[in-house]
Amino acid sequence: MPLIDSYELERVAMVNALDVLDPDLGASLDPITRLAAFTFGVPVVMVTIVDADSQRFISKVGTELTRTDRRVSICAHAIETGDEILEVPDLSKDRRFADNPMVTGEPFMRFYAGAALRSPSGHALGTICLIGYEPRHLTADERRKLVTLVQVVMTHIELKLSVGRREAISGMSNRQQFQADLLTLAERRRGAELHAVLVDVMDLQSANEAGQVLGMAPMESLIRQAGQRLVTLLDGAAKVYHLSSTRFAFVLGGRTAGGLNELLMRLREGLREPLSAAGVPMSPLFHAGVVPFHADATEAGDVVRKALIAVHAALSQGIPIAWYTRDRDDQLTRAYRLAADAEAGLLDGEFHLLYQPRVRLSDLRVRGVEALLRWDHPELGAVSPDEFIPVFEKTALMAVVSRWVMEHAIAQLGQWQAAAPQLQLSLNLSPRDFDNGSPAEELLALCAEHGVDPGRVEVEVTEGEWISNHRHALPQLRTMQGGGVRIAIDDFGSGYSNFGYLTELPISVIKLDRSLVSGIALAPTAALKAEAVIRLARRLGYSTVAEGVENLGDLRLLQEWGCDEGQGYLLARPMTPELALQLATGAALEFGPHPE
Ligand code: C2E
Ligand code: CA
Ligand code: CA
Repeated sequence: MPLIDSYELERVAMVNALDVLDPDLGASLDPITRLAAFTFGVPVVMVTIVDADSQRFISKVGTELTRTDRRVSICAHAIETGDEILEVPDLSKDRRFADNPMVTGEPFMRFYAGAALRSPSGHALGTICLIGYEPRHLTADERRKLVTLVQVVMTHIELKLSVGRREAISGMSNRQQFQADLLTLAERRRGAELHAVLVDVMDLQSANEAGQVLGMAPMESLIRQAGQRLVTLLDGAAKVYHLSSTRFAFVLGGRTAGGLNELLMRLREGLREPLSAAGVPMSPLFHAGVVPFHADATEAGDVVRKALIAVHAALSQGIPIAWYTRDRDDQLTRAYRLAADAEAGLLDGEFHLLYQPRVRLSDLRVRGVEALLRWDHPELGAVSPDEFIPVFEKTALMAVVSRWVMEHAIAQLGQWQAAAPQLQLSLNLSPRDFDNGSPAEELLALCAEHGVDPGRVEVEVTEGEWISNHRHALPQLRTMQGGGVRIAIDDFGSGYSNFGYLTELPISVIKLDRSLVSGIALAPTAALKAEAVIRLARRLGYSTVAEGVENLGDLRLLQEWGCDEGQGYLLARPMTPELALQLATGAALEFGPHPE
């Protein structure tokens, strides 16, 4: 087996990247090919591209052939010689070609002169070759002409390929060109340490809003001006590409991280000067993602993806510059995997529910349980809901998973009916669940199906503020409440939660977040805050549940303040339905570790 060297691999990659096999490109070369036949007085002229195992004739005169096997290709030799021109005056007298079927049989080729077509990166993509049926020599003058012809053909190819490589709005080079140039750069500066920067100059949301008022043309002009400003600010240090509607990219070499950050902060300053959009002054924004990479074909191929990750990190954290990190990449890959595997996982029984008892603080009896979802992924092992729920929430998966949780939890409550008729069940819904469909009707229908009184069911939702702003959510909650289901605000006190908006919502329970509760016995300020929240909530008529009760001191304080229920590792961990039932039907709790 012949050894395939890395030059050859890259050469073939370049043939594909540059798209030189495009039939349109070949057709556009035909006039040049005809002119060459006339100029050199040969019957056959071909522009060939040599790919991995064949040679294709993308433009030709005097032959019907469109491709040949690379093994019988004479041009394959031409691209391998370091010389500008491979000239063979009489093929039948040359050991390399004497028994070539094109020489020994039809069309009985005799004369060959081929010159390599080289990409800007220096890779020989193919040739332009002259073929005659009689032996012949090129004169010195003809050799010069052939070299010029090669330049004409390559310039033509580059020009032709640059069509479709410009962004229509800015006229700047686009992503296709960026990608192609990265490959070239990888060759030219092989091994160099470079930085790719992707800059987002406008937040798409406000661009769209402004577009609705001003029309698209001023917004496009704004983006164009922002791009040009980047070019001016970079002052020739790098070529700027217009990658997507609001994003520009460039590559810099030879900078330290500190130097690059400094440069980017200067760009940011310069970019912030207001520009005019239809007479309205608007300032471009600046969020940059930076990717350090080594100039080689593999890394260059992955730069745009990584730059997107980095720029999204900057955008989501609201910071001007974010560097690509492997961690974030892995995290995204893992999140993507979780989302992709979830639905099959549900069907394959990889999910199950654990139940964490909720304890009445006045007598320490189990009053209810909270259903908590668990996923044992066959390859990734146990995945925490803190990881997979936020992933599902970004997709349509959330509704599917919530539906599954409702079905299983309510069925479980139905099974517990005889043994624990008073036991309450709470389940978690995500704000996303209220976007589509009607979780309220589904929940009430499930209660009916399993003979469960909806008065024993509680729904926990986190973001009350979100809910109060969403038209769909409120009627859903009202329907649930109307059917007897209680609604709890979960994680209260963890974010910006306040009592203000709660009064408009059909809420009856407030669950104090763990961060508000854990350790209060040892932290007087925290204790003051927790006490104030509990007392106020009670006076407003809510019942209160403290999460994250982890030690006895905290428990005693909560009891003293009149908190209704507690939930936490001190009282009971999330556990199997069998254990939860045992605990719920047993005596009042004593403290000690409980098995999960
Ligand atoms: P959450 O609703 O606040 O649930 C309480 C979480 O705190 C549970 O974590 C529970 O195991 C944990 N926990 C309980 N007591 C203690 C304690 O004393 N100390 C500490 N450190 N932790 C305690 P888990 O089961 O990992 O669930 C995490 C979050 O995932 C839940 O927080 C909830 O937001 C979400 N989640 C879980 N199951 C579901 C579900 O079925 N649907 C939805 N939408 N979200 C769910
Ligand atoms: Ca909860
Ligand atoms: Ca919670």
